[in-house]
Amino acid sequence: MRSYKLIAPAKINLYLEIIGDRSDGYHELVMILQSIDLADEIEIHSLSSETIHVHCNHPQVPTDKSNLVYRAAELMVKRFPEAFTKHGGVDITVHKHIPVAAGLAGGSTNAAAVLVGIDLLWNLGLTQTEIEELGSTLGSDVPFCVAGGTVIATGRGEQLSPLPSLDHIYIVLGKYRSLEVSTAWAYKNYRQEYGSTYLRDTNDLASRAAAVHSGGIVKAIVEKDAVAIAQKLHNDLEKVVLPSYSQVLHLRELFASQPGVIGTMMSGSGPSVFALCTSQEQAEKIQQQVRQTIPDEDLELFVTRTITHGIQVVGNG
Ligand code: ATP
Repeated sequence: MRSYKLIAPAKINLYLEIIGDRSDGYHELVMILQSIDLADEIEIHSLSSETIHVHCNHPQVPTDKSNLVYRAAELMVKRFPEAFTKHGGVDITVHKHIPVAAGLAGGSTNAAAVLVGIDLLWNLGLTQTEIEELGSTLGSDVPFCVAGGTVIATGRGEQLSPLPSLDHIYIVLGKYRSLEVSTAWAYKNYRQEYGSTYLRDTNDLASRAAAVHSGGIVKAIVEKDAVAIAQKLHNDLEKVVLPSYSQVLHLRELFASQPGVIGTMMSGSGPSVFALCTSQEQAEKIQQQVRQTIPDEDLELFVTRTITHGIQVVGNG
């Protein structure tokens, strides 16, 4: 029986702007997505029987058909039935380190790892673009998670255009374990409160995306200027999530008040909040400082950093 072990990194949003509605119920977005070294491990073993099994060490993550990992494997079975018959089923184990329902694309990156892993297991020889296209049918963040790095994402988040990669910007990231924000809730509330201000003309959508592309944050990324990037962080969803979740707002304010923090923002639809820091030492100091101020064990704090890759194969047998 063959097997692969893969690393599936989380992402943060350095930028998230909602620029319009779509007829499919999603929103037109301009995002800058960034991979970080906080990652899950995925092990995929081939099985002699034609079945899919999923295991996960995290109690909040389902192992049935609602797991994105299961859905990724099922998609591969549907698209490549002959390979399934030839090579057999898959047994997938997810070792979770990425907080769940956190705005960090945990499920999406797991699904991307399964697509990459099954491609190898079944010798399909798919290109990165083909894997990304398969991923886009599972979720908007899945295509980005395949190659990761630093990317400007438009459409519903699946149209990717790479930016120069940002390595080694240190980050402190916080998430309350018991706090989950539904992505659907955040977008629905945003639409209700701010929907009338959307740009609805497709030409305007294109020019808005182009404006972000030629704007301050992309310039700062190209120049690898961490301080300038930190000053240009943006997330429209903060407008609806922060007023409803006082713990998230408080954590963000606490991060912002720490010496050595150059910028802070909520990731995706939250409730994760991150702070960009001047150095690893500073990030570790800030983690300790915040831990002393909020000793609540419900608050998970991580020191992490920006990385230049998405899914990585780290072992095979
Ligand atoms: P995004 O940033 O893409 O919106 P997220 O980080 O907010 O995603 P996830 O961690 O992917 O959210 O979890 C969202 C929901 O999906 C959870 O309620 C969880 O139970 C479910 N889920 C299904 N499969 C997985 C998986 N493999 N890992 C984590 N959660 C999963």
